[in-house]
Amino acid sequence: MPALQCNQRTRGIILFSLVTIAVTIATVVAVTWDSIDCDRLARGSAALRSVPVFDGHNDLANTIYELANNNVSKFDFEKNTTDDPVWGIKACKECMTDYPRLVKGSVGAQFWSAYVSCKTQYKDAVPATLRQIDVIKRLVNKYKGLRLATSHKEVQDIWDANQIASFIGVEGGHSIDSSLAILRIYYDLGVRYMTLTHTCNTPWADASPALGKPVHNLTEFGKKVVLEMNRLGMVVDLSHVSHNVMRDALNVTKAPLMFSHSSVYAICNHHRNVPDDVLLQLKKNDGIIMINFNNDFVNCNKSRNATLEDVVEHINYVRKLIGVDHVGLGADFNGISEPPVGLEDVSKYPAIFDRLYKHREDELAWTKDDLEKLASRNMLRVLERVEKVSETESKTTPLEDVISVDELKFAQKQEGLTPGSCQTTQE
Ligand SMILES: [Zn+2]
Repeated sequence: MPALQCNQRTRGIILFSLVTIAVTIATVVAVTWDSIDCDRLARGSAALRSVPVFDGHNDLANTIYELANNNVSKFDFEKNTTDDPVWGIKACKECMTDYPRLVKGSVGAQFWSAYVSCKTQYKDAVPATLRQIDVIKRLVNKYKGLRLATSHKEVQDIWDANQIASFIGVEGGHSIDSSLAILRIYYDLGVRYMTLTHTCNTPWADASPALGKPVHNLTEFGKKVVLEMNRLGMVVDLSHVSHNVMRDALNVTKAPLMFSHSSVYAICNHHRNVPDDVLLQLKKNDGIIMINFNNDFVNCNKSRNATLEDVVEHINYVRKLIGVDHVGLGADFNGISEPPVGLEDVSKYPAIFDRLYKHREDELAWTKDDLEKLASRNMLRVLERVEKVSETESKTTPLEDVISVDELKFAQKQEGLTPGSCQTTQE
């Protein structure tokens, strides 16, 4: 029986070899397909390796004010605070920002918001704003992962040093107390955008709740605020203003404008969002709208929560209407309490880039170049152009216009205040 034994053995060896080869081929094929799939998924966010995210609006400074009375030492920025008993999401619904998650989210530049409540208008808005500028500077100076930035030229150096370029934006025209002098001082302190209003009307510009019942629109003094910002090289931010003020400001400005954290009115008709005619004006202006992630702005369907898909819809809508050069991201982290599913904190930006790259058949395709524009390049272009306009304009003398007493009295009456009881000095 040796011949038979030999045959069985040989057959056994051949069978074993065939099975081994088949398993190996199957493994190789599976691994290859897995890699292809992973590559495809990761290629969108791969754009962020060279050009990280420049987000238009983050309210971390206000969180430090709310939770620690601006005591920076009580907040460990370098720790992942997701589960922290004070700074974690269970204790604080708006807490979404710390350094480890910013790094995970490929954030390379951020406008930190110096925000003070509308309750400070006609009272202590100026000192309160100065304190928020100070807390941003103390945070930036304390942590080596951050560096203060005041022009587009500084950003690449900051990225090369693996730091986050930290710009300051003042959120709300009430912070200047109707004074161009205060506006200029803010610029000197490093502020590089100001939102013309927050949720309250100022004596010279209407806020978005005034939709349909305008009080002032943008007054003659308001136009001077815009022009002085142009001269200084401070970006005019139109998030929070009424739709008429958006139109007025776009008509008067000499430089590109921004919406630091707003979404699309045609998709969700919230007064904070931007209507199509304004978006078309923004394209001519060469400005930018940075999409806000707030549930109420990206999703008007109250029967469900917003998701990453809603944010993608707003981004794609802007791109289709006015082009890829005018859209960015202004998530409003730490200023919103109901982020979309899939975009819960600052670590989640890459998911947007992967999703846009994958794109559905009925959506526009996104190239690496397009994704880089969305991430940072559009905002950097706006800053560069605003700085260029300022180079010519700054040769002109500072505007010395002063708001009239009648305008202040009218505005205070509108707020139910007794004119003169709050304003202590006239300029
Ligand atoms: Zn806001």
